[in-house]
Amino acid sequence: MARCRICENDYAEFISFGNMPIANGFLSSEEFESEYFFELKVGFCADCQMVQLIDQPDREQMFHQDYAFFSSLSRGQQIHFQALAEKLLSNYLDGDSPFAVEIGSNDGIMLQHIAAAGISHLGVEPSENVARAAQEKGVNSVSRFFDEELAADVIQKYGHADTISSANVICHIPYMHSVLAGVKQLLKPTGVFIFEDPYLGDIVEKTSYDQIYDEHVFYFSVGSVSNMLTRHGLELFDVEPLSVHGGSMRYYIANRGTREVSTRVAEQLARETELGLHKIETYNRLRTNIEKSREDLTTLLQKIVKEQGRPVIAYGATSKSTTVLNYCDLGPELIEFISDTTPLKQGKYSPGMHIPVKSPDELEKSDPQYLLLFAWNHMQEIMDKEVDFKDKGGRWIAYVPEVGILT
Ligand SMILES: [Zn+2]
Repeated sequence: MARCRICENDYAEFISFGNMPIANGFLSSEEFESEYFFELKVGFCADCQMVQLIDQPDREQMFHQDYAFFSSLSRGQQIHFQALAEKLLSNYLDGDSPFAVEIGSNDGIMLQHIAAAGISHLGVEPSENVARAAQEKGVNSVSRFFDEELAADVIQKYGHADTISSANVICHIPYMHSVLAGVKQLLKPTGVFIFEDPYLGDIVEKTSYDQIYDEHVFYFSVGSVSNMLTRHGLELFDVEPLSVHGGSMRYYIANRGTREVSTRVAEQLARETELGLHKIETYNRLRTNIEKSREDLTTLLQKIVKEQGRPVIAYGATSKSTTVLNYCDLGPELIEFISDTTPLKQGKYSPGMHIPVKSPDELEKSDPQYLLLFAWNHMQEIMDKEVDFKDKGGRWIAYVPEVGILT
C-alpha cells in the first residue's frame, strides 16, 4: 500500500511498468553504466479519486542543467500558447496594474506575449538553461521550483497576481499541497489560476499509457482536481478540453465563491462518471488494455522487421517513447534509430534501451519504408511536414489509440 499524496489515505497500485530509466534521460555511451532506474507503477486512490505514481525519482534526477525540452521548437505549441496569452490578456489581465505569473514558464513561449503587451510578469522555471532562453527573449524569469516559500517571496517583491498559469507542469509536482497553498496566497482575491495537463479521461479512452512516466506524478481528472482544490479554499469554475498532448484538460480556478461556476464543470463530471473514472475496475481494465497494446506492438514490429530484413526507424525521441520502449522491451534489433530534430539529443542514446538518436538528415539518407510514430500527439504537424515520405509509399506505425499501420 502507498499513502495518497492528496488525502493521505492508503491506496494500491493497479499497474507496474517494471524498471524504468528517467524518461528524458538521453545519454552518451559512457553513461550507460551509471544509468538510474526506478520501478514505474501507478495507483488509484478510491478516496479522493487521484491517479498517481507510487514512487517518483528525486526531482534533481529529472530537471537538471541539460534538460532538453524547449517548448518553442514546435510550431503547434507556439500557436497554442499565443492563444492562451491572448485569452489571459483580454479576460483576466485587463484591470489596473495587472501581474501575471507562470509556473514552469519554459523558454518563455507563452509569457513573451504578455511581456510584449507591457504587462508585469514573472516566469518560474527551475531548469536554468531553459530559463536563460526565456530571459534572452525579454521574459522576466526566476530559476526556482514553485512552492509556498517561493510564493511568499514573489508577493514581497512583486505583489499579488491576477493570473497564475501553468501548462504541463502541475502534474509533475509531488508536493501539491505546498503548490496550492502558494497559489492561494499569491492570487489576488479576484485572481485566477489556470492550468492544463494531459487528461486522465483520454489516457483511459485511448490506452495512451505512454503519458505515464517519471515526470508525470499525477494523472488528473475533473473529479480529482475538484477534490484537491476544495482542501485549499479554491474552486473549479470552468473546464476546457484541449486536443494538445494527445488530449488535455484546462482547469479554471478561483477563490471559492468568487466566480460563477460554468455548467461545463458538472457536464464533464457526469462524463467522468460514465467513463468510470471513480472506480478501480476502470483501472484494472486499463491495465488489461495496456498489456494487449504491448503484445500487439511487439508482434507487429517483429513481423515487419522480419519481412523487410532490417529494423524499423522511429520518429520523435520523446519522453513518452521511453515508457513504450522499455515496457515493450524494444531494443536495437527492432528499432535501428530514432530520428529527432532536437540537437541536444542527437548523437545520444535513448534511456534504458540505448537506441541511437539521429538527425532528420540521417533519416532522409536511410530511406525507410516504415516509421514508428512516437510523437503521435503532434501527428498532424508531422504528417504535413513528412508528406514526401508518404508520397514515396512510406507507412506510419502507430500504437495510440490502437496498434496498427496508418493508411
Ligand atoms: Zn487520495
